[in-house]
Amino acid sequence: MDHFALKHGVLHAEDVPLTAIADAVGTPVYVYSRATLERHARVFAEAVAGVGPHHIAFAVKANPNLAVLRVLARAGYGADVVSQGEMRRALAAGMDPAGIVFSGVGKTRGELEAGLRAGIGQFNLELEEEGVVLGEIASGFGVRAPATLRVNPDVDAGTHAKISTGRAENKFGVPISDAPAMFDRLARVDGLNLRGVAVHIGSQLADLAPLESAYRRVGELVGALRAAGHVISHVDLGGGLGVPYRPGDVLPTPAEFGAMVERVTRGWDVTLMFEPGRVIAGNAGVLLTRVIWVKPGVARPYVIVDAAMNDLARPALYEAYHDFAAVEPNGATFAANIAGPVCESGDTFAMGRVIDCVGNGDLGVLRTAGAYGATMASTYNSRALVPEVLVDGDRFAVVADRIEPATILAAERVPEWLK
Ligand SMILES: *Cc1c(COP(=O)(O)O)cnc(C)c1O
Repeated sequence: MDHFALKHGVLHAEDVPLTAIADAVGTPVYVYSRATLERHARVFAEAVAGVGPHHIAFAVKANPNLAVLRVLARAGYGADVVSQGEMRRALAAGMDPAGIVFSGVGKTRGELEAGLRAGIGQFNLELEEEGVVLGEIASGFGVRAPATLRVNPDVDAGTHAKISTGRAENKFGVPISDAPAMFDRLARVDGLNLRGVAVHIGSQLADLAPLESAYRRVGELVGALRAAGHVISHVDLGGGLGVPYRPGDVLPTPAEFGAMVERVTRGWDVTLMFEPGRVIAGNAGVLLTRVIWVKPGVARPYVIVDAAMNDLARPALYEAYHDFAAVEPNGATFAANIAGPVCESGDTFAMGRVIDCVGNGDLGVLRTAGAYGATMASTYNSRALVPEVLVDGDRFAVVADRIEPATILAAERVPEWLK
């Protein structure tokens, strides 16, 4: 459930008509709903409330906006970060360093040092050598780094190949069959407090079965590690829950997920960690855009909007579907293609879709854009970096400025020898 709905014929974010945001900020612009973020955070927290000791770390890469992180920090969430930049954002949003998990397959030495200095709560190791280096740095600092070993359970998450992370051939984690021997070696590393295992098999999962089989494998591993004398106090179950993108999409609910986790992890006697991203932020945001032209096409018209693949990359990147709706629908529909102004044929949001009838100058939204939206934006085609707005009841604020092409141009220069 989200808080984007028609009121008096105009699409609103909570109590703010999107027309008012377009007037004040211009388009394209991402619009987030605080009430929706808080609702999703609460629903997820309630869904896993029964699993025993646990910690929820929002996957910052899904939506790293400072104000969004602040909303989630106030809801009691920690953060899952995959770079020093994300760590800095989580800290700036007021998150407790102890509640931050540092994931990522290519953490640099500098990032490990920065994480230790900041007092990050847990490092999820992606390879043995990383654990050795982390232990070395931590020893130098006179501390022990809390860490888990991320395992790759070799299950097919059944999602798009580009957001699948738990197959043996993916770059993430260590093969689960190698984990016991690696754990033995890493447990002896000075400066490392290797206290558990982590798993994350992919994103936009439409079915709980692959998660369940991954978790069962992790449960067996925990048993084996304990039998070998290791103390296992933490298991990080990652993120991945999908959200409905199309009308009629049916996905596992957080409550169903929570019930499955409770069933599978019963008796593990650990602190469980969750890293939800999309399920919290996905439906809490829309990309508000204005129609520039309706251009006649061979089979059907092209609705050329002022948002493009540089603002919302998911359709071009992995054929993602985003629902389109007019901000002031007139009741009519037509079959059209929706495309942005970028000079790539892949810059299309929909082909041959029946949508609200729109004309030049009309406003529309691409829905479910709150996760993996603005965070992936670029300035390709020398377009502006898209701004972000947060709505709270009947008020709203620009929470990320539009970065104009002139600002970006100002950071470039022609060397003396080329003038
Ligand atoms: C991306 C990612 C997540 C979040 O995934 P969602 O599908 O957005 O829930 C969680 N953990 C790790 C390690 C990730 O890389």
